[in-house]
Amino acid sequence: MEDLEKRLEERDIRVTAVRLLVFRAMLGHPQAFSLADMEEALESVDKSTLSRTIRLFHEKLLIHSIDDGSGSIKYSVCGSDCSCCLSDLHVHFHCRRCGRTCCLEEVAIPAVQLPPGFRPEAVNFVLKGLCDRCSTGKG
Ligand SMILES: [Zn+2]
Ligand SMILES: [Zn+2]
Repeated sequence: MEDLEKRLEERDIRVTAVRLLVFRAMLGHPQAFSLADMEEALESVDKSTLSRTIRLFHEKLLIHSIDDGSGSIKYSVCGSDCSCCLSDLHVHFHCRRCGRTCCLEEVAIPAVQLPPGFRPEAVNFVLKGLCDRCSTGKG
């Protein structure tokens, strides 16, 4: 079985040709993508199918969402062992120059001490500035 199909099935997503196509495009995208990025990459796919597919992938934890403050929600494919619980989440970085949003999977979100009674279920940790390419002038 193709690895991509297995990854969909592991997330309890029924494999269809369109879903495989969308998933492949997501994996091929060099940074976090928005719905508009996917529409551009997959012109042959109907827009409402595309947004439904993204919503399904998000619900099934195949991808995670990132609110980078740019006004459009970005998504990125989760690692196969990610279950999007708080301890699986990582820091994101939005570059103000090139506009890309990166998953810094190796950077864990710092632990935050909350007052008693507060139970966090989600966190959106986005740093902004210049990315590695732009800060060295190679962007
Ligand atoms: Zn940049
Ligand atoms: Zn990420």
